[in-house]
Amino acid sequence: MDEYILQPNEAIIFDDGERIKLTNLHIVETVTTWTGLLKLVPKESYVCHPINQIKIYEGKPQVIYKEEDDIIDVYFIDGKKTFEIDGKKDCQKFVSAINELLTGEKLSFEKTSKKSIPGSKFIAERLKGTVDAFKGAFNNTPEPVEERIVAECPSCCASLSGIKGRIVSCEYCNSKHQL
Ligand SMILES: [Zn+2]
Repeated sequence: MDEYILQPNEAIIFDDGERIKLTNLHIVETVTTWTGLLKLVPKESYVCHPINQIKIYEGKPQVIYKEEDDIIDVYFIDGKKTFEIDGKKDCQKFVSAINELLTGEKLSFEKTSKKSIPGSKFIAERLKGTVDAFKGAFNNTPEPVEERIVAECPSCCASLSGIKGRIVSCEYCNSKHQL
């Protein structure tokens, strides 16, 4: 199949590597039609859905990712169109890219996850911070104090000084001793 010909002001933003491409102007869908009399022959062609025909409601493009089916419903002025893209990440990328094109804002899927109540993550983090602060206050075990001592070198009787328990080497006779 011939490559999709971009308009002079058009650039590919997303490509699922299969049937769906997103440019700054269109959702480009590869469709297969079967033709032929004796033997059906697949014929692939591109169908362009202009981005500027996507409905926007309350500032949000009506592009709905249905996670359980891995499909994306796009509501155009003249009707709904469903796109299938493999993989959650690519679906989110596609939806986010359309949002960015139409509103200038990226869509964050973490914030709109249906499992979390809006703001609960923030509260949880605030609480966690408080708990950590308490932990910090009560967990104030003092650092072990390093006790410096002076001892006598068993080999040459010179004085050795250092931290208790450490091994030091005598600066006169070079022998090593634990303090
Ligand atoms: Zn010594």
